[in-house]
Amino acid sequence: MNMPIQLDLLKCAWENRRLSHAYLFLGQSGTGKRGVCREFAKAVNCQRESFPACQECISCHKIENNTHPDIHYIEKEKSDFIKIGQIHYLEERIALRPFEGRFKIFIITDAESLTEEASNCLLKTLEEPPANSIIILLANDLQRLLPTIVSRCQILRFSPLGRREIQAKLYQEFDLGELNSHLKEKNSIIRQFVFAKDMRSYENQKDWQKPKLRQALRILIGLVRDIYIFKAGVSCDFLINLDLTKEITLLSKKYSFADLNKIFLGLFWLVEGIEQNINRNLILDNLKFIWEEPS
Ligand SMILES: [Zn+2]
Repeated sequence: MNMPIQLDLLKCAWENRRLSHAYLFLGQSGTGKRGVCREFAKAVNCQRESFPACQECISCHKIENNTHPDIHYIEKEKSDFIKIGQIHYLEERIALRPFEGRFKIFIITDAESLTEEASNCLLKTLEEPPANSIIILLANDLQRLLPTIVSRCQILRFSPLGRREIQAKLYQEFDLGELNSHLKEKNSIIRQFVFAKDMRSYENQKDWQKPKLRQALRILIGLVRDIYIFKAGVSCDFLINLDLTKEITLLSKKYSFADLNKIFLGLFWLVEGIEQNINRNLILDNLKFIWEEPS
């Protein structure tokens, strides 16, 4: 039950068959990147198809003991670099079918240590990833990676912060000071997307530009976060939408954790969609229907 949030997100992607072929785990050392990597590798290969992994089957044991033939670690050598020869090794292995598992997993630790030559070589594989393979790069400094590599990976961030600090950060990231001073607007957005049954208000949204869409997403992500922590039994003091405690109570009964994970992930995909200039109407449709009655 106490899965790191990153593993939670990966689980959700796994269940929805939306795993990416390449991930970038970003965060300082000591933030749990390697642990999540290992547990993820176990889960997608677990013989009991259990996520989180069962920890008992042969596959789980082999991954725990670093003896699984489909899990490869690519680490910097004594020279302090990851060289092109090591990426050639990856290229050869990744072209093969998995020996035992469902997925071949290639974990490149300290991805900042890739030489430029090695990075360019890796890029080719990232452009045409073979089936049943996942590449995971671990890094702590985004600036030292080739942007073309970063753009081909889904980024998962790792943080050394405790729960309280994460709350504080959420407050910052979601502009909550600003939100509270625009209480009316915040609640109007929540009403339009989460509770409204008629489509009239929806029509006006078609004029919304990027900043307005971004703001709406931020507000909705804040709301899902609230439902989530309320459901988890965290004190109401920590709610962003303190003024909507009644509504949050209702929503927390309506949605399961799995539903909330799906909504959360959906909203994050829409955040990405906005940045990638995906059709606005499509985004609005999704924003609306993401809240539909859970099955
Ligand atoms: Zn297992």
